[in-house]
Formats: sequence, C-alpha cells, structure tokens
Amino acid sequence: MTTETSEQHATTQAPVEKTNLLGLSREKMEAFCLSLGEKSFRAQQLLKWIHHHGVDDFDEMTNISKNFRAQLKECAEIRPPEVVTEKTSKDGTRKWAVKVTSGSLVETVLIPDGDRGTLCVSSQVGCSLDCSFCSTGKQGFQRDLTVAEIIGQVWLAIKSYDAFPSTNKKIITNVVMMGMGEPLLNFDNVVDAMSLMLDDFGYGISKRRVTLSTSGVVPALDRLGDVSSVSLAISLHAADDELRNQLVPINKRYPIAELLAACTRYWDKQSDTHRVTTVEYTLIAGVNDSPEQAHALARLLKDFPCKINLIPFNPFPLSDYERPSKRAVDRFWQVLSNSNIVTTVRSTRGDDIDAACGQLIGQVADRTKRSERHKANYNQVQAVNIIE
Ligand code: SAH
Ligand code: SF4
Repeated sequence: MTTETSEQHATTQAPVEKTNLLGLSREKMEAFCLSLGEKSFRAQQLLKWIHHHGVDDFDEMTNISKNFRAQLKECAEIRPPEVVTEKTSKDGTRKWAVKVTSGSLVETVLIPDGDRGTLCVSSQVGCSLDCSFCSTGKQGFQRDLTVAEIIGQVWLAIKSYDAFPSTNKKIITNVVMMGMGEPLLNFDNVVDAMSLMLDDFGYGISKRRVTLSTSGVVPALDRLGDVSSVSLAISLHAADDELRNQLVPINKRYPIAELLAACTRYWDKQSDTHRVTTVEYTLIAGVNDSPEQAHALARLLKDFPCKINLIPFNPFPLSDYERPSKRAVDRFWQVLSNSNIVTTVRSTRGDDIDAACGQLIGQVADRTKRSERHKANYNQVQAVNIIE
C-alpha cells in the first residue's frame, strides 16, 4: 500500500480558478459576497465599479475596504474577453473580433444611427441550427459563450468609446442578441447576461431596448417568458412550413403555427401591453421574395401583433443565394405596407468590414470538414484572422 504525503498532494493540485466577477448577475454577486462573509450590499458596489465605471482592478475600488480587496484578489478577477481586432467602417459601424478560446473568435458589432447606438451581441461560438442562408450556421457549433463573454462584449464596446454609464455618454442605447449563435440554446447564460444589461447596477437599458432574436426554439421561448421581459424577434423567412423547413431546419420540430403561438404566450406573461414581436424576414432572390410570397406573409400575420423587418440577404462565400434587386425588395415591402403591417427594410451597414447581418464568422479553428472548406474560402476575403 502506498501513502501519499501532503507535499506530494500539494504539487499535484491544480491552482484554484478565480471567479470572474464580470459574469455575475446581481443575484449571483450577492451570493458571492455572502459566501465571503460580506454583506450583500457589497454586491451593488462591485457591480457599479465593474459596469458603471469600467474598472477591472480591485485597487481602484476606493469604497471597498483594503481587507476585502485583498480577499477579492485572492479568489476573484475581472476578466473581459480579449479583443483581437477592432475595425470601423466608413459608415461608422464598428466591429470587434473577440477571442474566446484558443483559435476561436466571435464578433460584436455596434451600429450607430443618429442618437441611437445598437450593439449586436453573439451568444455562441458557431451555431448548431444550420440555417441555409447563415454564415455562422455553416461553421457548426463549437460552444456556448459564458456570461462574462456575453456581457463582456457590452463592456468592451463601451470601453472602446470610454463611455461607461458614469460618464453620462450614451453610445449604446439598444442591444440585440442577433450576433453569432442561437441565444435560446444558451439559455441560462443569455438570461443572466441580459439581466445585467437591464439592471440599474449594470447598464440600466430598458427592457424594450434589449431584443432577443430566435429562430424558434419553442420550449425555451416558453421558459424565457417566465424569467425575462425583453423584446422579442423571430427569424421567420417564409410564410409556409415547406419553404421554412428548407431555410430554417428547426422548423421541422417547431413549425410556424407553434412558433407564433409561443410568441403570443410570451407576451401574455408580460405585465405591460402593446408590445409586439419583430418578425425578421431575410429576402433571398428567387427563393422567398416574390409578391405572392409577400401576400402569403401578410395573410399569415394578419392577426398577429408584429412589425416586420426585411433583411436583404447578405452574401458570403460558399453560399449560392443572391441578394434580391432593389425593385424586388420595394415590391415586397409595398405589399406588406398595403396590408397595414409596419414594415421596415434593414439597411446594410458595415459592408466594407463584413459586419452586415449574417456575415459574422469569427471562428478560425473548427473541426468539421464543411467548416474547413468554408473557412478556407472565407479567409481569402476576410481580414479577421488570427494565427495561433
Ligand atoms: N440565431 C438567432 C440570432 C442570430 S441570427 C436567429 O436566427 O434569430 C440574426 C439574424 O440574422 C436572423 O434574423 C438571421 O436570420 C439573419 N441572417 C442570418 N444570415 C443572414 C444573411 N446571410 N443575410 C441576411 N440576414 C441573415
Ligand atoms: Fe443559428 Fe440564427 Fe444563423 Fe440560424 S440564423 S444558423 S439560428 S445563428
């Protein structure tokens, strides 16, 4: 029989991983403070330092005692994701490539528009849902982002403008979970990150200005209504199940009628009335952009409280789809407007830096062959590229 000495034991023990406070919701920060023997109000102080002042060094937290700061340094850290590239388009759109794991990037985009600034945030590395028109879907799924990596995208975007809430500068007025990944498939982390976006000790953004976009994971949408009250966007792209099955494969499990019913249940759970679902419809030439399809969409949504956002398809390598002509987009818009449905056309922003909707790729190391092909082709035109 062998006996392990305490020294032997000590040398084989892995270092204790520090808690990244950037990723703690208010509730979790309170629990963390209590676990260290501190009062729960310390959580508010920590949250304000991190999210209102953008502080990532405990020594700058002057209203926190030296003892507690020393304790925090032992077991905690404030570690934002690492920015690999930051690019600004000629139209003011800014895109960050953020390193999340060795070899993997996700992207975050800020679209300024007058006194409004919309930040498009990623929730996963890749996506498992494989929508036929989406660059992220072509990579396959790699992993969920952590809460710190999701809220960290807001943190670093604000930092790059030196505009944390304490400065009273308002660079980000809206957040949309429309970057890479399907947010409802990373449910707990997305919910915690969105709670920090809304929290007065976080970023204090109105629930109406934080939008979760989903391709239609119905059971998770039902759960979302129980814990969150953010705005809702659904990626519809077709008015009939046959076509939607081809474009958005998850439709085979949760067809259109079930998705629309889930949206209604979501709003029924909210206390305020008059909130409507945003219906996203990516227009693809010759696939779903005909006037007949516009009429079918108008009929489908006749009694469904919504506004429609038409997104002309943004091409990317290895995709056979094409962007519709301006005439086709106008025609489609006209049919819906004539049916009294509020309809907007999303303007393409950040085209010169590949920041347009559906063009985000980020990831550079993926194991699927398909993704390798995609990547090889993509890297010829994409400047976001890191070599490990
Ligand atoms: N997974 C979520 C959120 C990320 S995708 C969802 O699908 O809703 C955000 C939006 O970009 C979706 O409406 C999606 O349909 C759209 N999109 C994806 N690829 C696109 C492309 N190549 N051109 C235009 N829009 C695209
Ligand atoms: Fe995933 Fe959304 Fe892209 Fe579909 S459109 S593959 S759900 S990120």
